[in-house]
Amino acid sequence: MPLYRSISTPIVGDGQRTSFWEDDWLGIGALRHTMPVLFSHATKPRDSIAAVLEKGVRESLVTRLTVEAERELAHVMRLLETVQLSNTPDSRSLIRCSKKGGELAVGDLYSLLLTSGIAAPYASFVWDSFAPSKAKFFAWLLLRARIQSRAALLRKHILTAEEAGCDMCGEPLETADHIMFGCSFARSFWTAVGWTLPEDANVEDLHSYAAPDAFGKNAATTLTILLCWNLWKHRNGVVFRRDQPWLARLLRACRDDASLWRTRLPQAIAGEAATWDACLRDIS
Ligand SMILES: [Zn+2]
Repeated sequence: MPLYRSISTPIVGDGQRTSFWEDDWLGIGALRHTMPVLFSHATKPRDSIAAVLEKGVRESLVTRLTVEAERELAHVMRLLETVQLSNTPDSRSLIRCSKKGGELAVGDLYSLLLTSGIAAPYASFVWDSFAPSKAKFFAWLLLRARIQSRAALLRKHILTAEEAGCDMCGEPLETADHIMFGCSFARSFWTAVGWTLPEDANVEDLHSYAAPDAFGKNAATTLTILLCWNLWKHRNGVVFRRDQPWLARLLRACRDDASLWRTRLPQAIAGEAATWDACLRDIS
């Protein structure tokens, strides 16, 4: 089943044959990966959507939730507000390895298995990092270019074309790539931390860029997520609180987070974070 799950996407009807936790049915990835803390509180991890919704999500969890699990639960409950089950049985459509008529192309499946391409290439980048789960969740959306940039809100008709520009630099369309790499503010940030990224850097390839040695070998992913997370929060301050973009303040926020996040690293690689502060030092 995990293999079939990875090459197909559920079309939810009555919710009887789709797994609440293991299928990507809300469009954010399987909840067991995107809400890992909450999932660890599930009493029946194999329950279908129908089973969980009938019982109630909270009733499908152990009685006492951690603060982080409560936070993830609130996220999920918001997503569930728009969910409506129907009388039609659930079905699945192949997203990979399908022939024209929709049936399984065994040859393609075989080569997929040989190259171990089943999981999204960035899955381990995100989920094996040592970032806190809210930042992992952000990184997961980021690498799928699913963060709420103004371009995304324009596509959903929430903003007009005139409102879809970048508040930092005035670029007419604020995409996820622009926020993270294209914006002049983002570029000065990456330069300040000592990372020369490709000219055409984009969020979907973030996991494939080689970080500077000073980020650490095994700790680099965690610091990369920390930087993107703080750049995103800084952008939100500019957009929602009308803060001025300010590189020194962003670097200070990164240093503050780094001092907390480095305690999350396993002992064997904790030493790698010794060079983080040098990357995040104040610019003068
Ligand atoms: Zn910009």
